[in-house]
Amino acid sequence: MASPARVDLDGNPIRPITICMIGAGGFIGSHLCEKLMAETPHKVLAVDVYSDKIKHLLEGPASLPWTDRIHFHRLNIKNDSRLEGLIKMSDLTINLAAICTPADYNTRPLDTIYSNFIDALPVVKYCSENNKRLIHFSTCEVYGKTIGSFLPTDHPMRQDPAYFILKEDASPCIFGPIEKQRWSYACAKQLIERLVYAEGAENGLEFTIVRPFNWIGPRMDFIPGIDGPSEGVPRVLACFSNNLLRHEPLKLVDGGQSQRTFVYIKDAIEAVLLMIENPARANGHIFNVGNPNNEVTVRQLAEMMTEVYSKVSGEPPLEVPTVDVSSKEFYGEGYDDSDKRIPDMTIINRQLGWKPKTSLWDLLESTLTYQHRTYAEAIKQVTSKPLAS
Ligand code: NAD
Ligand code: UDP
Repeated sequence: MASPARVDLDGNPIRPITICMIGAGGFIGSHLCEKLMAETPHKVLAVDVYSDKIKHLLEGPASLPWTDRIHFHRLNIKNDSRLEGLIKMSDLTINLAAICTPADYNTRPLDTIYSNFIDALPVVKYCSENNKRLIHFSTCEVYGKTIGSFLPTDHPMRQDPAYFILKEDASPCIFGPIEKQRWSYACAKQLIERLVYAEGAENGLEFTIVRPFNWIGPRMDFIPGIDGPSEGVPRVLACFSNNLLRHEPLKLVDGGQSQRTFVYIKDAIEAVLLMIENPARANGHIFNVGNPNNEVTVRQLAEMMTEVYSKVSGEPPLEVPTVDVSSKEFYGEGYDDSDKRIPDMTIINRQLGWKPKTSLWDLLESTLTYQHRTYAEAIKQVTSKPLAS
C-alpha cells in the first residue's frame, strides 16, 4: 500500500525540494541530513570542508533509499565560485557554517568575525539576488547577558521573568565591552541577522532566522586527542564527556554558576524540519529553539553528567568529581559569559506548534551512552600507551 501523502501544518501536500545545506558536515547538519534522508523525499546538496559526520549517509550501500538524494560538495565558502551555482540549483539554502566554539571567540576573534559575518555575506546576497529562500543559523548568544544580571545579586526583581526570559521581538542584545573579545561571535551573528532581516524588508528576501539554545547530543564537537586536537577546547558537553571518559574531574569555569537550558538535538531538528516544510508560517520570523524546562547551572550539569555516566558505563563515579578553574586559565584573556538563557517559546509555538519533549536526564543518558560506546575503547588505548621518554 502506498504511504499517505505528506502534508504541511495547513493540510497542503508537501512538494519535494532541493536544499543547499552549507555546514552539512557539522553537528547540527549531520542530524538534519539524517532526518531529511530517513523521513522526507527532499534532496540535499551538502556543502562543507569535512564529511566525517555524514559519511554513513554518503558511503552506504547503493541500495540505501537516499543514495540519489544526497550529494557532498567539498568546498570552503570563503573562496569558491561554485557556491552561487549550488544556491541557484536549490529551492532553499540553509546556512550552518560558522566558527562556533567559545574557546575561539577570544583567542581567534578575527577568524570568528570573518566566519560568522563576512563569509555569510555572499550566501545572503546570492539568495536575495536569485529569489531563493534562506534559513540562517544564528545563536541565542545574540541576547548576551540578561537585564537582571545588572541588578544586585539578592535583588527580588531578579526572580521576575521580565528580567531574564529571552524573547525574539522584545529582548535587547546586551554584550560586554570590546576588550571582552568573547562577544565577537555574538556581535557578528547579530549583524548578519540584521542584514538578513534588512534584505527581507528592502528586497523581499524570504528568510527564517534560527537561534539555537544549547542543542546537544551525539556527534557534537570532538573529543580532544581522539577525533580532534589534544589542546582543543570544545563546548561543554564534549569537555565534560572527555573528562568522564578519562576519569578526571570536570572543570568548572568560575565556579560553574552560569545557567543554561539544554535541548536534545533530535527535538530541535524536528523544529527545523517544520520550518523547512512550512515556509508560509516560517518566513520573516526569528525563532528561539530551546527547552526552557531543562535549566541547570553548569555545576548541576557536571553533577548530573557524572551520575548518568556512572550508570551507562557501569563505572563508579569519581570521588572528587569537579574542580574549579578560572576563566582566564581555561579560556585565556577576554573571556566573558552569558549568565542565564531561558528561551521564550511563544512565537515558535504559535507559528509551528513545536514543543521540546526530552528531559535533561533522558537526553544525557542517550548522549553519554553514545559517547561511551564511541570513545571509551580509544581513550583506553591512548591512556595506556607509555609516555615517550
Ligand atoms: P559545527 O561546528 O558542528 O558545524 C559547522 C560546520 O560548518 C562544520 O562542519 C564546519 O566544517 C562547517 N564550516 C565552517 N566554515 C566553513 C566554510 N568556510 N566553508 C564550508 N564549511 C564550513 O557547529 P553546529 O553546532 O552544527 O552549529 C551550526 C550552526 O548553528 C552555527 O552557525 C552555530 O553558530 C549555530 N549554533 C549552534 C548551537 C548549538 O547548540 N549547537 C548554538 C548556537 C548557535
Ligand atoms: N564550561 C565549563 N567547563 C568546561 C567547558 C565549559 O564550566 O569544561 C562552561 C562555560 O564557561 C559556560 C558553559 O559551560 O559557562 C557553556 O559553555 P559552552 O562552551 O557549551 O558554550 P556557551 O553555552 O557558553 O555558548
